[in-house]
Amino acid sequence: MIFSGKTVSEGVALGRIEFYRKKDADVVRAQVDDTEAEIARFEQAKEDAKREIAKIYEKALAEMGEAGAAIFEVHQMLLDDLNFVDAVTELIEKEKVGAEYAVRATCDHFSAMFEAMDNEYMQARAADVRDIGSQVIAKLRETVQAAHGEKRTVAEKCVRKQAEYGSGRPEATGESAEGQAAYDDEKRSATVTAEESAGEPPVCAGSEPVILVADELAPSELARFDRSRILALVTRCGSVNSHTAILARTMKLPALTGVEFGEGLDGHMAIIDGSAGLLLVDPDEATLEKYRTKQKEETQRERFLSELRDKETVTRDGRRIRLCANIGGVDDADAALRDGADGIGLFRTEFLYLGADDFPSEEEQFEAYRAAAEKMQGRRVILRTLDIGADKRADYFHLPHEANPSLGLRGIRVSLERPDIFKTQLRAILRASCYGNVAVMYPMIISVDEVRRAKQIAEEVRKELDAQNIPYGEVEQGIMIETPAAVWLSKELAREVDFFSIGTNDLTQYMLAADRQDPGLDAFYDPRHPAVLGAVRTVVENAHKGGIWAGICGELAADTSLTEEFLRMGVDELSVAPAHILDVRAAVRECTF
Ligand code: PEP
Ligand code: MG
Repeated sequence: MIFSGKTVSEGVALGRIEFYRKKDADVVRAQVDDTEAEIARFEQAKEDAKREIAKIYEKALAEMGEAGAAIFEVHQMLLDDLNFVDAVTELIEKEKVGAEYAVRATCDHFSAMFEAMDNEYMQARAADVRDIGSQVIAKLRETVQAAHGEKRTVAEKCVRKQAEYGSGRPEATGESAEGQAAYDDEKRSATVTAEESAGEPPVCAGSEPVILVADELAPSELARFDRSRILALVTRCGSVNSHTAILARTMKLPALTGVEFGEGLDGHMAIIDGSAGLLLVDPDEATLEKYRTKQKEETQRERFLSELRDKETVTRDGRRIRLCANIGGVDDADAALRDGADGIGLFRTEFLYLGADDFPSEEEQFEAYRAAAEKMQGRRVILRTLDIGADKRADYFHLPHEANPSLGLRGIRVSLERPDIFKTQLRAILRASCYGNVAVMYPMIISVDEVRRAKQIAEEVRKELDAQNIPYGEVEQGIMIETPAAVWLSKELAREVDFFSIGTNDLTQYMLAADRQDPGLDAFYDPRHPAVLGAVRTVVENAHKGGIWAGICGELAADTSLTEEFLRMGVDELSVAPAHILDVRAAVRECTF
């Protein structure tokens, strides 16, 4: 049997399928009399879930870095969201229902709201809401379990239940509403095993690692698994933009989504071909052999790449190219250093804002930028100023509702409209420059005037620091080239700044008029389109004519089929996600001129 789906993460895996079932698929509508006690149970479970998520955050941070862990900070914030808390409390009070049911109903309501939105990114947040609901329900079940004594296995509980209730529900035997609540409590606790309550999902516990198949998998569930126990991941529902998908890629786990697999696959032998988007169940010996060979080639490649960690990024005929890393937080710098990055070509500072429920203070930002500068030990760290807007939104900014957010108020436009926020960030960046080699970069530029205004504000900040006797160092100033206007004006812009970094992700979207968030436009969103490559060439030429350097920090920088072409164009720096550094180094070392 062959099933196809969407590629979330490439790679080949061979092994047995293990089906993962959600723990809270059986929440029932139990009636309660003491609503206050039920609300207290909910509050307690919510706090317990937050503590559990904090642990998952630490695990994800250690194993996957900041980009992989950030979602769990968002989950903690969602749990404190007043709309969520009020809705659960109200449901318990008004309808006298058990906390488990109130949490599940509230999460279903909010996730349906997200799913109905016409923005793919927001639709993917529905899974986050269901995820936090499941975690609170798991905690509520632990309290039921504690109240009913020591933990028992499902089988033991079922035996006991049959003896107490026969095979029917209490109303069938004429019992009271309290009796039904007790039955429901028991029913809830009966579904929880000792292993589940310990926080580890009850799969992948056999002697061999497995291919995990699920209807849907929440990020917190995936992050809890021991990576060495999972070979690959296949889900029926889920978006390639979801946080589960991002985690799978960060974990380098071959993964597919949108696979309409049938019933009864548990225990069957299967192959995942991540790049082809295929799940092959019960393959014949010839197919198995073909994929074993493919897997061996992948392993050999990984081994070969790991040997390049300490090697130079230099062409066969000795031309050296700067190969840097794109990071979303300080912890990602460790992976960049491990694989020998020459610096940080793009620090997406907006992640500091997106992970918070209020503006990060100057001090918080300073600490993060200083830590990155110190970690990189003199290698250049390019801090891109806040690129909020479009799909990156934080409530406390109160950005206007826009019909076309990617054509709206974002990047430098927000910073110039809100100089208070911009100045706080620039102060933090300038102060951090005493601790390493720090540069600043302005995003979403469309005019010379914007660059001059940004530089003017940076100058004002310098004067303020001087007046306060606060030290700062030399900070190069650059811009991102990610709009057709900036390409067109690149000759003029080169006179204003120290460097260009080409953001091909947005440049593709704006040059080809194709929303980068919309999977329905994938066929139009082609970063290798001749217009985009022509723009890169023009920008590099105009940079060099103006005496400055130009790099690429969009995803296209990691496309190794273009590495040679980029070097021929004269690109001075390629900046890629840490996971791609070694691939690109290998490609550069193959080039000759
Ligand atoms: C880009 O647009 O290419 C870029 C690097 O910025 P971001 O992906 O953060 O918009
Ligand atoms: Mg961009």
